[in-house]
Parts: sequence; C-alpha cells; structure tokens
Amino acid sequence: MNDLDWAEFSPQTRAVRAGHRRTAEGEQGEPIFPTSSYVFASAAEAAARFSGEQPGNIYSRFTNPTVRNFEERLAAMEGGESCVATSSGMAAILATCLGLLKSGDHIVSSQSIFGTTNVLFNKYLANLGISTTFVVIDDLAAWQAAIQPNTKLFFLETPSNPLTQLADIRALADLAHQHEIIFAVDNCFCTPALQRPLEWGADIVIHSATKYLDGQGRCIGGAVVGDKERVGKEVYGFLRSAGPTMSPFNAWVFLKGLETLHLRMKGHCESALALATWLEQHPAVERVYYPGLKSHPQYELAQRQQSGASGIVSFEVKGGQEAAWQVVDATRLLSITANLGDSKTTITHPATTTHGRLTPEERAAAGIGDNLLRVAVGLEALEDIQADLARGLDALAD
Ligand SMILES: *Cc1c(COP(=O)(O)O)cnc(C)c1O
Repeated sequence: MNDLDWAEFSPQTRAVRAGHRRTAEGEQGEPIFPTSSYVFASAAEAAARFSGEQPGNIYSRFTNPTVRNFEERLAAMEGGESCVATSSGMAAILATCLGLLKSGDHIVSSQSIFGTTNVLFNKYLANLGISTTFVVIDDLAAWQAAIQPNTKLFFLETPSNPLTQLADIRALADLAHQHEIIFAVDNCFCTPALQRPLEWGADIVIHSATKYLDGQGRCIGGAVVGDKERVGKEVYGFLRSAGPTMSPFNAWVFLKGLETLHLRMKGHCESALALATWLEQHPAVERVYYPGLKSHPQYELAQRQQSGASGIVSFEVKGGQEAAWQVVDATRLLSITANLGDSKTTITHPATTTHGRLTPEERAAAGIGDNLLRVAVGLEALEDIQADLARGLDALAD
C-alpha cells in the first residue's frame, strides 16, 4: 500500500491510510518506533548515510518512521509535496519563520491570530530584526498597503479566533505572488477535512496538531506542509538543526486522530450549526458569529472556500461581563477552558482569558466585547450542550 498514488484517492481515504509503510511483520495498525538512533551495516554505510549519498535514517531528530508516517499522511491530505512535523504548533510557526526569513525581512500578518503567535512576532522575531505589520484579515487593500520592498511573508488564520472572520485565500495568494511573497495559512480551525489552502494558492499550511488533528486533547504537536524546496529543505533544515521535532509517540496519537478526522469534523460542524441557529433566536443573545449562518457577512466565501464551518461558535449576550460570566458559571457539563478542537465542548470568555492582556482600547478595536463568549462545540449530544447553555441564557432572558 506504500506504492499507491494518493492523488487518486479522496482526502478522507488518505486520512485513514496514507503514509503507512507496512513492515515485514504485516501489521494492520501503524507501528511506533521509539528509537533515538539507527544502526548501520558497516562503516562504509554509516559514512554514506552521513554524507547524504545514501538516503535513510540516522537519528530521530532528523527522521523517524512513525513521524514520517504522520508527515506523509498530512501532506497527502493537504495536497502538499512535503510535510515536517514539529513538537508543537508554535514550533511549526517558529520553524517556518526561521527557516525562511532572515534579519531585515518583514511579515504582514492578520491582526486576528493566536495570542502566542502575536508574542512570537512582536517580541522574539522583532528582537532578531524581523518586523511585522498587522492588518485586518478581510481588508485586501490594507494587505496591499502594508507590503514593503522587504516583505517576505503573509501570515493568517482563517476563520479567525474568536470572531470567525474569513480571509479570501485565493485573493491574498494572488496579491502575495505578484510581490514574490510567501503565503502561509494556519489551518488549525478547519483542518484539511474542511479547507485545503494549498488548493486556493497558499504556499504553506501550518497546523497545531494539538487541536482537531488529535481531537481528544491528548498531545501537543504541530506541522508545516508545502513544497519540497521551502518546507522539505529550508523548514526541515531549521528543524533538524534547532531540534523541536515531534516525538514518535505523539506522531502515532495524531495518526490515529487523522483516521477519524473527517467523521469528527462532520459532527463538530453539524452540532455547531444547530447550536448557532438556536443561539441566534435566543432572547438573551445579541449576536452570533459562525460562518455557517446566512447572517455571517462572509457566508458566500465560507460556502466556496470551506466544505464546513468548523466547530467554533462565538456569541454576544445581552448585558456585559457579568451577564457573560453568569452563562459560563451556570454550565455544569461544558469545560471552562480556552482550549479547542476537543471532543469535549469548551467555553471561554475571551475578554478576560485569551484576550485579557490587551488594553480595553485594543480589545474594542479587535471587536472583542465584554459580553462575548466562545464555545468550541464538541461531540457530546447536541441537546446536552444546548441545555447546559440554556440554563444561564434563560436566566438572563427572564
Ligand atoms: C493552539 C494554536 C496554535 C499553537 O499551537 P500549540 O500546539 O499550542 O503550540 C497556533 N495557532 C492556532 C490557531 C492555535 O489555535
């Protein structure tokens, strides 16, 4: 089955089978190779491996069969030539930036990105002489205006967190390529089951495997997918030198996660849409943000670019922080945590958690109100999730 051409198969089939090189044992399940190094048949073979004359394993910071299995499977799912797995989603973003950029380069990034990515750009990359301009995700003119002669990278997440704003990937890819800029999309929210940015012209896809790829909140990991030159050579080169590689055990957990990804994402999407529809008509709810709702300002783009709207639903309640906290504290089933992409539904109040370090002015500019809540809809029965939210919301409406 190693010899199959995965391009002939649907992404759902690739998610279940791609990348497994069955060993002489004939195993059905993917093996874990917990080994730090590899042995050679002779001094000459060792020399040939080290010189690069002969391909093959040397050391697990460079390559590991279980990690490679995960990399090949995810590459097949995203439709990329190469994939490198990393120890976390942040390591994937770091490896992309340090593998492809140098001092004096400039990034244009969506302002609506994961908080830690913001710290990485604003503090650590800035310290190395790599500067970043932040723009509104769906303002194409702002992306264009932010381009400088030294701009090397466009970076974004779509849909954004927590307001589910979308970027038009095709339009931004065209703009980036007119200026020879590399375009990277963090595809954490949609996963390749719902959105494949490379097909819309992006150059690089980044993942926090910690979220939906695992799907059950077990392991930390990440990945970068793209072409052979930039990802297979440059990002990989950084990774094998700097070291934040994925462990074989985590790679195996993610492999198992990928096998159920399409089914899980279907479940997340179905429940999220039903919940968002219910929230929209609830008297205690002022506004719902979910790309699967016709009321979403970019509903058409979501329909075109994604095959599902994913599991993140945000909504504003009538009242302020106190009302929002009441809804959180009235839950009994939902996990009060900022994580997402888990089979267990989570609820968070962005203004005092994920976006708590922003000033009130910055939060207002980002559209994060004190009355905003974000739910990452899990795989419990919809009626139980809904009842858990209804308890607090009904009390507000009375
Ligand atoms: C969680 C997350 C990351 C960081 O991933 P880790 O695995 O926690 O390092 C990056 N981007 C997005 C969109 C995320 O949600």
